Amino acid sequence: MERIYLDHASASPVDPRVLEYAEQYLKLRFGNPSTLHSKGLEAKKALEDARGKITELINAESESSIIFTSGATESNNLAIKGAAMRNIQKGKKVAASTIEHISVLNPIKELQKSGWEFNLIPVDSTGLVDTEKMNAILTEDTTVVSIMYANNEIGTIQPISEISRVVHEKSLYLHVDATAAGGRIPVDVQNDGIDLLTLSSNDMYGPQGAGALYVKPGVKLQPILPGGGQERGLRSGTENIFTIAGMGEAARIAKNEMVEESRRLEKMRDKLIEEILRIEESYLTGHPTQRLPHHASFRFSRIEGESILLNLDMGYNIQVSTGSACTSRTLEPSHVLLAIGLKHEEAHGSMIITLGRSNKIDEIPRIAKGVKETVERLRKLSPL
Ligand code: PMP
Repeated sequence: MERIYLDHASASPVDPRVLEYAEQYLKLRFGNPSTLHSKGLEAKKALEDARGKITELINAESESSIIFTSGATESNNLAIKGAAMRNIQKGKKVAASTIEHISVLNPIKELQKSGWEFNLIPVDSTGLVDTEKMNAILTEDTTVVSIMYANNEIGTIQPISEISRVVHEKSLYLHVDATAAGGRIPVDVQNDGIDLLTLSSNDMYGPQGAGALYVKPGVKLQPILPGGGQERGLRSGTENIFTIAGMGEAARIAKNEMVEESRRLEKMRDKLIEEILRIEESYLTGHPTQRLPHHASFRFSRIEGESILLNLDMGYNIQVSTGSACTSRTLEPSHVLLAIGLKHEEAHGSMIITLGRSNKIDEIPRIAKGVKETVERLRKLSPL
């Protein structure tokens, strides 16, 4: 039985074109971009080319606005801790939505231990930030507000321009985690009014181990990794040229192909949703229309998401997810599903499908059949 991989939010295969471009930096062009000889200059050029490609993907003001990191977790930490600590004279308050990724929530909890106040911004039952409540929560002594572009578990896309307007009326910094959205839907930091933006290489088919943080000109950050002063002093450590070159190339491809690819996946997503919602007591989670084109998330009553995942994998060679891979080691229900108002027992029955370049529309009947049979079998076994 051929594999059907439906978990691109946890890990995406590296695009073969990305690998072909980047492998020269692993095999031959191994220089350190901070050195002055020809090998170093070769690496420096690869680094700056990648910076240019990310700049274009998100319409940043200039290449110098892009800082390379080891991934989204590091970018989120640098954005939040860096902004909070560097702008402490403004106040000791940080805010974030209740459905942020743990790599946003945990750095803020760490700041809390050092005396910062943490204000949580609620979302409605579809996962949209309530901008009126947000307006009431934010005060002028908040330094940074973190709201994700789109949620990785429920697919909901936030009205970032509207959020930006509210945040900037109070002269605060807006950090946006665009890990799930980058390379999938158009992100324009200038048009959207974003001060700090997190991107991840692997989420756009680049190699794992690279990420970027966009820092709007004039935004002040304190580095969280001091050392040799690479990346404008904001992220020390020799740059990982292979993964960064790969991320740049992945961004270039995504920019060229995003519109057409998202139209293709959107059709597939809608067909999948239609088929899966035919199953009794199955529900879509997240927003019905304002959602990522490749994202379909569900919950099924009276069964556990983990059982669905394992049965689909072993019985049908189909790989799905139940929640964020980063929190799958805990048996706690997803904080995102609780934040949109689900009860504990409802949150346990979740299944997330994230489509990608290799998926084809003719896979849908096999997916729908696999999910239906699995859900029905598990319900028969369920003591609930
Ligand atoms: N933010 C979001 C929205 C994510 O989905 C993830 C995980 N893919 C991260 C941040 C953290 O990414 P990483 O584990 O690659 O650092």
